[in-house]
Amino acid sequence: MPAADTVPALIARHAAERPHALAVTDGTTVLTYRELADAARKLATVLGARGIGPGRAVGLLCARSTRLVVAQLAVWQAGGHVVPLDPAYPRPRIADMIADAGVELTLGDKALLAEAGLSDDRTLVLGERGTDEEPAARALPTTGPAATALVLFTSGSTGRPKGVRIPHGGIADLVTAPDGIRVGPRDRVLFHSAVTFDASTFELWAPLANGAAVAVSPADRPTSEELAADVERFGVTVLVLTTALFHHLAARQSRIFGVVRTLAVGGEALSPDHSAAVLRAFPWLELVNGYGPTEGTTFTTLHRVDPADCAGPVPIGRATGGARVLVLDEDLAPAPNGTVGELWIAGARVADGYLDRPELTAERFRELPGVGRAYRSGDLAARRPDGVLEFHGRVDHQVKVRGFRIEPEEVEHALLQFPEVAEAAVVVRGVGRPEAALTACVVPAEGTRPQAETLRARLAERLPSHLVPTAWAVLDALPLTGTGKVDRRALAESAPADGGTASAAGEAATGAAVTGEAVELTPIQQVVAEAWERALGRRVTSPTADFLAEGGHSLLAMWVVDDLSGDIGVELSLAAFLADPTVAGQAELLERALRDAEAVAAAEAAADAAAGAQGAEPQGAEAQGADR
Ligand code: ADP
Repeated sequence: MPAADTVPALIARHAAERPHALAVTDGTTVLTYRELADAARKLATVLGARGIGPGRAVGLLCARSTRLVVAQLAVWQAGGHVVPLDPAYPRPRIADMIADAGVELTLGDKALLAEAGLSDDRTLVLGERGTDEEPAARALPTTGPAATALVLFTSGSTGRPKGVRIPHGGIADLVTAPDGIRVGPRDRVLFHSAVTFDASTFELWAPLANGAAVAVSPADRPTSEELAADVERFGVTVLVLTTALFHHLAARQSRIFGVVRTLAVGGEALSPDHSAAVLRAFPWLELVNGYGPTEGTTFTTLHRVDPADCAGPVPIGRATGGARVLVLDEDLAPAPNGTVGELWIAGARVADGYLDRPELTAERFRELPGVGRAYRSGDLAARRPDGVLEFHGRVDHQVKVRGFRIEPEEVEHALLQFPEVAEAAVVVRGVGRPEAALTACVVPAEGTRPQAETLRARLAERLPSHLVPTAWAVLDALPLTGTGKVDRRALAESAPADGGTASAAGEAATGAAVTGEAVELTPIQQVVAEAWERALGRRVTSPTADFLAEGGHSLLAMWVVDDLSGDIGVELSLAAFLADPTVAGQAELLERALRDAEAVAAAEAAADAAAGAQGAEPQGAEAQGADR
């Protein structure tokens, strides 16, 4: 039975019944349910005084932290809805999101708000005086399940991202469903996803709606080592991973699988081989394939993966949390079992449509006879005789790269704004592989010779990094199909993602080798170059080669960091890696880490020797030595 409650109401109930139970921790700050509820209520009162109430949009630009959880809950208690913003997005993108969502006030960290160029009168710095003091009591509104809770932006085929309006009731149903992912008061769920990504809806509110604890991963972009360390130190029992990250960790048989009880994986088709390997090594693990678009509030269907499922494509399972799933043919009649049709989602979990986009909302959200409001997912599926659903790809060009949903038309639209680009097609090469690359194929305007690197840099000023192609091909013409449409399949298949030079009708802008002036690499640069070669699938010969310009991205960076720490035995952070992403820069980083590790070892050895020489109270001396 779906819950009629909202998440804030459920949290208030836990705060009253088990005030001292752990609600949120990031390893430094610890909040019990009562502390969380009190902090949120105070901030909600401050927000109320700033005019936030029902129907008002509040931006959130904040590092992952306990503060962020308090802030999000406070906006809901004040009656408003949250528009999460990603600090990594370019300024113009953040400004567009704020304008599109009608955000009047943005809450966040001081430095991030300043970086985004947001003026003081439209921001509220979290943690500053005034946000955590007891304000004059003020009645807070009661928010019902139909009210909008969140606006999440997702790639839009017309070149503008679309804001999906997610209702409170949808979130409450998702996280309290008896047929959903089990979360009870003793569980700890890791919050490591970006708040702009709908996985975070589950990571935050599933624990808090069920009296469990949220363990906040403090790293901005955790490496797999940091993720594993978080999972261990917090004793995480329930974890959500994007399919791409799961495949990466599965290939390494991450120790994470030995700690968590339940692992929900979603975003792309799940690889049977990786699933089988993990289930063989960790047979007690509850591995769940979660399917669902943002428009259906995170997970629409779930499937508990059994080794027997791994002989072919892993099913996406059955509807969960009050969602209803229909597989319809082109005439909108139910497709018979075993026949592929389009997947429609109905029920209270369906979003309220797209913000300010009535035509697009009318196109995707329809009233179906005998069903009610339903969302047309664009996904193809077939129902097995036992009711379990199998995924069969997309009806349109939408793609997934590293879990990010991308409408290639959005990127093409941005490319066509450049005067030197006459035609553009964006495809993914190497679908489903770790090196899958968003690839831009451009035809230059007459008399121009656009450089891939320049186009990439200019695109990065406007689009979030996942929408910026990492591979480029400059072509004389785009190949066409027999019916005169751009032959996307030919483009996707023509140039191997391993950096070959072949392309449909012209030269590829990225060659077979990562070039630059030929300078001999130092031994440590050679180690870095080899790790890059394994990740990028092409030769790396220059110390000045830039990882991002050469097709690297955050998941491949994690791959390299994992490789290097395995080879050399020092831990690197992704932030440090990405701060100077050249071969020489990373070699320097490694050298520094090695020197630091040696210095620590030498200091420890000296302290041990000193303690041995003194012979007195060895334990105390050791402890001091370790402190130094
Ligand atoms: P999320 O990535 O959180 O699932 P998005 O709205 O970004 O949500 O992307 C939704 C799309 O991702 C779906 O419409 C579908 O094409 C694809 N997808 C999501 N989960 C799965 C899955 N388990 N198997 C296959 N495809 C999936």
